[in-house]
Amino acid sequence: MSPSTVSCSIDLHAPGKQIGHLRINKITNTAGWASTFIHIGCIAQGDGPTVLVLAGNHGDEYEGQVAAMRLLQELQPDQVTGRVIVIPVLSPTASKGNTRNWPSGANFNRSFPGRPDGPPHEQLADYLTRALFPMADVVIDMHSGGRSAYFLPCSHMHVVDNPAQRKAMLEAMEAWCSDHHYLYIDINGNGLLPVEAENQGKLVITTELGGGGRTPAPIHRLAWDGLNNVLRHVGVQKGQVQTRAGMGLPPAVIIDGRDARNIVVSPEDGMFEAMLEPGDPVVAGQPVGRLWFMDRPDRPAELLRSPTDGFVVVTKAIPITEQGDCVFVVGTPIDRASLL
Ligand SMILES: [Zn+2]
Repeated sequence: MSPSTVSCSIDLHAPGKQIGHLRINKITNTAGWASTFIHIGCIAQGDGPTVLVLAGNHGDEYEGQVAAMRLLQELQPDQVTGRVIVIPVLSPTASKGNTRNWPSGANFNRSFPGRPDGPPHEQLADYLTRALFPMADVVIDMHSGGRSAYFLPCSHMHVVDNPAQRKAMLEAMEAWCSDHHYLYIDINGNGLLPVEAENQGKLVITTELGGGGRTPAPIHRLAWDGLNNVLRHVGVQKGQVQTRAGMGLPPAVIIDGRDARNIVVSPEDGMFEAMLEPGDPVVAGQPVGRLWFMDRPDRPAELLRSPTDGFVVVTKAIPITEQGDCVFVVGTPIDRASLL
């Protein structure tokens, strides 16, 4: 395969702290030889693991982007044993535009493994796949529900086949110390960033830190505290690893989201009213929300019911709803021992 078209302005193998950028070539009507900058930082000292901290994979998911920018400011080489590489905003034009996808319509989290001769999002994916993931022992990819959904604030994971990788991912997921964790599946296509990293054998940690177009202060704290504790847990940041038990908190609830029937979509166009919140317990048949019809105020609302007992995990954040939009997700609690 041809070499990467992406260049990096800093030396990722040098000790100390550097902040620079990746450049992807572009040609615009006002600049024939231009570049898109994707900012990147590296904080390294001594021997230890290499951890890649990524956020802004989806542009309108700001919780992780804020935490990653703060990490670039505050983490100093003398706190590190190994190397932390940070890309706080993977999709800058989408982030500035408050959109999930790139302006071209591309979903960066369906762009992997990418290719050097593809469009810009595939060139960036290819650089991560062939240059950055091979350097890394650990890949952290922070998401949330974005504008469109409110997701129970949590760290989450794929249940990968390799038992050692699965155990390491479970323990790292728990080190985020969120009240809940979620086991997810890919229901809308392939080419996900974490899957490419998992296929390369990496310890992958992902999150869903709320969403819905507003980030309350406690969510920013969860993003920051969880990220730092995971960095200590994997051994790249010095300091005491915290546990929920050590903080006097009950064990986290792990919610199994691997049954696609629990991802409920709207049967028709309408206006969605949530009747329960993410984190609320639910029983099979109980309404989680209902659909109103702006052109038919004489028509009763359509109740949208949970397919199973468990917990509400996601509700749609934007009431206006098209047929086929996900309106809510539920999941069932699972014993962590069954994942080992
Ligand atoms: Zn996302």
